[in-house]
Amino acid sequence: VPAVRDRLRIAIQKSGRLGEPARALLASCGLAWRESRDRLFCYGETLPIDLLLVRDDDIPGLIADGTCDLGIVGRNVLLEQAGERARTGAAATYREWRALGFGGCRLAIAVPDEWRWDAAGDLAGKRIATSYPALLSQWLAAQGIDAEVVTLSGSVEIAPRLGKADAICDLVSSGATLAANHLKATETLLQSEAVLAGPIAPFGDVRAELAALLLRRLDAVLGLKDSKLLMFQADSIDVPALMQLLPDAERPTVLRVDGSDRVALQALCRGAMTWQRLEDLKRAGADALLVLPVERMLA
Ligand code: ATP
Ligand code: MG
Repeated sequence: VPAVRDRLRIAIQKSGRLGEPARALLASCGLAWRESRDRLFCYGETLPIDLLLVRDDDIPGLIADGTCDLGIVGRNVLLEQAGERARTGAAATYREWRALGFGGCRLAIAVPDEWRWDAAGDLAGKRIATSYPALLSQWLAAQGIDAEVVTLSGSVEIAPRLGKADAICDLVSSGATLAANHLKATETLLQSEAVLAGPIAPFGDVRAELAALLLRRLDAVLGLKDSKLLMFQADSIDVPALMQLLPDAERPTVLRVDGSDRVALQALCRGAMTWQRLEDLKRAGADALLVLPVERMLA
């Protein structure tokens, strides 16, 4: 029986691509920390929520063994390790709680430039180098393709040139690394981004409330993406036409301007507020248009 704990511990990447954005996201949820001298631990000062700074590969395991309660890690790492555990018959203990909107990339098959790629079936009988053997094996099985999976821990993109493989299965974002290695991406196995991972079973102590509080704030922060407060004035007669141009406006407030047929209108808009949209509103009778950033919202 795990000991009752009164603080929540979140594992995040110590450095690398996800470390900084993960801390920034948690900070925007109102968390602040005092960092230990060895830079391995951040002690929560505003809330009893601490951070453990680790290699990203260790994060799923730390959640599985209860060392950490939650983690921020790439979906690719989370699913690869879940796939690995499933293969050995271990029960799943963690899952994705939220997609976090940064660290976007995809896990893809890439082949040498000169390969005249036709379809996934072209991989039959070939050797494919990857650091994601579980995800690749699952995908090959689902496609009904019999190919050899060559597991490498790094530098997968040079495997074809070294003669170790015919193709690779690796993470791609811009494609620049592939191009530099004379490879081209073909099939996508997985769309990935940073996710908040947590246990499948609910917490049985005060951590349940802490996790719920964190999720509420996280959802508010994530939900505000691209949101703007739009304000303008118009003749009341134009309001219906203007609202037609604002299908994404939430809870619009209309105030009558004293002693006239004019109104002042304000609304939270989720879609991007481009110049084009403002000009369309202006043509439909809006004026004194103002677009303001939204820092926080508690619905
Ligand atoms: P660590 O030292 O923590 O083990 P790492 O080198 O394994 O770090 P990073 O290169 O920092 O890991 O990548 C972390 C995550 O960033 C990846 O698992 C993936 O989810 C995401 N990511 C986004 N774009 C890319 C990309 N172009 N290449 C690799 N990972 C990417
Ligand atoms: Mg790693």
